Amino acid sequence: MQPTKEDCFIVEGKLALPYQYFAGRTGSRFLIALRDEKKIRGIRCEKCNKVFVPPRSTCERCFSDISQSWVDLEDTGTVTGFTVVRYEEPYQPTKPPYILALIKLDGADTPIAHIIKDIPLTEMKLGLKVKAVFAEKTTSTIMDIDHFRPQEDG
Ligand SMILES: [Zn+2]
Repeated sequence: MQPTKEDCFIVEGKLALPYQYFAGRTGSRFLIALRDEKKIRGIRCEKCNKVFVPPRSTCERCFSDISQSWVDLEDTGTVTGFTVVRYEEPYQPTKPPYILALIKLDGADTPIAHIIKDIPLTEMKLGLKVKAVFAEKTTSTIMDIDHFRPQEDG
C-alpha cells in the first residue's frame, strides 16, 4: 500500500541546544569591564565623533578601526523607545509583563536594549531618565546589568 499525503503527519517542535561562542575581542572587553568593574564602556570614532555602545571595533559610518578608542560611559541614560512584552518564553530574563527599552546612555550616541523595572507599565514614557542597577551575582553577560530603573530626580 502506497503512503498518501494523509499518512504524513508532521509534528513541530523545538530543541534546547546548549552552545557557546566567542564574544570577540571587543565584546569580551566590554563584558569583562561590566563583570569585574561594573563599568559600561563604549568606543568612540574620533572622525565621526560618535560613541558606540555596545562597542564595535569598526566604525559603522567611516569604517575606521576604532578598536582602541575606549571611553567610560555613565550608568545613566534616556529611554528612546520601548515596548511591553506580554508573552512568555523560557529564554526571557524576567517574567512578563515587562518593559523592554532602548536606552541611550549619557555619553553614548547609540542605544542599548535592556529591561526597565520599578515603574508602573502605565507610567512608562519616552524620554524617561533611567539608571543602571547592577546584578548582585555575575553571569558574565549583559545581564550583569540586572535592569534599569527611573532616576530619582526624573
Ligand atoms: Zn567613523
